[in-house]
Amino acid sequence: MLSYEEARQVVIEQVGKKRASRAAVGVSVWDALGWVLAQEVITDREYPPFDRSTRDGYAVRAKEIAPGAGLKCVGEIKAGDTVSEPLVAGTCVQIMTGAAIPAGADAVVMIEHTKRERDVVRFERAAHSGQNFVPRGSEAAAGQIILSPGMRLGYAELALAAQVGAVELQCATRPRVAILSTGDEVVLVDETPGPFQIRNSNSVSLAAQIRIAGAEPVILGNAADRVDDLGKKIERGLKEDAMVLSGGVSMGEYDLVEKVLKAMGAEFFFDAVAIRPGKPAVFGFCQGKPVFGLPGNPVSTMVTFELFVAPAIDLLGGAEARPMPVMEARLGEALNEKPGLAHFLPARVEWRGLAPEVKALKWQGSGDIAALAKANCFLVVPANREKIEVGESVSVWLRKDVV
Ligand code: AMP
Ligand code: MG
Repeated sequence: MLSYEEARQVVIEQVGKKRASRAAVGVSVWDALGWVLAQEVITDREYPPFDRSTRDGYAVRAKEIAPGAGLKCVGEIKAGDTVSEPLVAGTCVQIMTGAAIPAGADAVVMIEHTKRERDVVRFERAAHSGQNFVPRGSEAAAGQIILSPGMRLGYAELALAAQVGAVELQCATRPRVAILSTGDEVVLVDETPGPFQIRNSNSVSLAAQIRIAGAEPVILGNAADRVDDLGKKIERGLKEDAMVLSGGVSMGEYDLVEKVLKAMGAEFFFDAVAIRPGKPAVFGFCQGKPVFGLPGNPVSTMVTFELFVAPAIDLLGGAEARPMPVMEARLGEALNEKPGLAHFLPARVEWRGLAPEVKALKWQGSGDIAALAKANCFLVVPANREKIEVGESVSVWLRKDVV
């Protein structure tokens, strides 16, 4: 049986191999958060476009400044002012953060290190050439590529695009991912379940996870645990870029997903992973499309989606697979888990100062969505660990939707 690291690597390799370039679409810089860039973004001019002061203070010639030196202040430059006059030797100019320093000046002295006596400024300490301003062109040259295809657009990337005037961005169209839940006991979320039925919450969590991963969910509802119904709905799902099924992959008499997929020509790369929850997870290709059969217990579905489907969506969407958001934390309450499988326990990490501490939450196993809704992370217990004591360092996998 593969470890989760191995299984994830298999997904990344196999989906990576079949990656095709996606059609591009123009997206406004206001709306492009989370999209994958499909063009180069190039600077329209040098950045900064002028020698830009980073402090409120005085523009000076550094060599004229010594402790106790006094210079006549001959003017004021605000951010946005046009600066054409050079600095006259033996004088200084008051300058604001973001303003252009005049020709001849080679330093800015912070106002905090000066005393003003009418039009004379007295300096408390020496200055060195280059201090407190960013030289023209030092952040980027004109015509320089600053964003490249395949980059995911976060707020900094969007601000950078806006800075150079790229208000519409060519982005890769989002992959469409079909969601099919399975199970005779499952009813639609807006139906009233009978006493032994449950609502299809997995389609809701999967749709949310697909959106966060950067794709578009295509909701196909629920298939009964019957070969004909499953076959018909899987056929429909295979029209999309990828397909995710929930339920029907365990060892039960009515767990038919693998069998039906196989009959439709699927090739599987794994059908079990050494994890709890989520052990029966299935990954393969069917008619050229990546297909994921995730176990139906809700927390299993959520965990296996993040482990295996999320990186596939990155790749299908034209980006690289993002790493799992994992960090180390101090264990706040001792653990005792069965060895053999890696465990993902719903947990809460709290930051005391910068030192994170994590505690697993009480839960009833992989059906317990309520426990996960109190968690901001999974505590990862490696397969070879059993007892872990308070104070040991453990891996924490953050829930990127709530942290
Ligand atoms: P399965 O993987 O098909 O054996 O399903 C395991 C358990 O997961 C079922 O007994 C249900 O309690 C639950 N389950 C299955 N499908 C869903 C669904 N779509 N939404 C919520 N829970 C589900
Ligand atoms: Mg089932």
